[in-house]
Amino acid sequence: MPLQVAVDGPAGSGKSTAARRLARELGLVYLDTGAFYRSVALLVLRRGVDPEDEPSVTDISAGARVSFQPGTGGGPDRVFCGGEDVTEAIRRPEISRVVSAVAAHAAVRENLTRQMRLLAAAQSVIMDGRDVGTHVLPAAAVKIFLTAAARERARRRARELEAAGQADGLTEEDVLAEIEARDRGDSSRAAAPLRQAEDAFLIDATFLSPDEVTALIKEKVLAWKQVREGGEETEN
Ligand code: C5P
Repeated sequence: MPLQVAVDGPAGSGKSTAARRLARELGLVYLDTGAFYRSVALLVLRRGVDPEDEPSVTDISAGARVSFQPGTGGGPDRVFCGGEDVTEAIRRPEISRVVSAVAAHAAVRENLTRQMRLLAAAQSVIMDGRDVGTHVLPAAAVKIFLTAAARERARRRARELEAAGQADGLTEEDVLAEIEARDRGDSSRAAAPLRQAEDAFLIDATFLSPDEVTALIKEKVLAWKQVREGGEETEN
């Protein structure tokens, strides 16, 4: 049985940093589910479609094939949509502004969730997103809900954008407004909203370093593995 680890939480809580590190340390495949929604948002903007136009956005999501390839030289994984490398394009601020509207459509979510589940069935994964523990992989072995104060998340995101040369003159206040709007959209939608699964461990990362967050999640995964191995020994 492949191991499934789900890490959910709001934008900028540090999910991808921790999940990426753990994937390396524990030999899991890292899957960024936000990249699916961002890739569809990129196609929507390029085709001049209104993100609220559910039938057109659903059509686009049905044809979108998202895949990942390991990054070279220790760099982050590359995201492909169709044959195109969209890794940088999907992180741009204009995508962040429309992605929640795209992700609110139930039929879009169904199309993308199907692709995510296929990937998770074939290999041991750590997936991050908003609804992995509640909806995409409800039977995941370990579920984490990672959060942090909005101001701290905005500070971290603003620094990341700056480092990637994608700040485009945005201030930390602008990033805070965008993050809060996204939190509202993601938490209030009817289809698979952002919420903590009942069986998820809650981690508040406001005062924790990325190393500390990674260590806490690793502890939960190793504890689960120990229980499973103990169970297998008893069965034999
Ligand atoms: O994780 P990231 O910030 O890249 O996600 C971008 C957006 O994609 C989120 O704000 C949310 O609207 C959507 N998303 C989602 N469900 C997921 C992952 C992302 O609705 N599992």
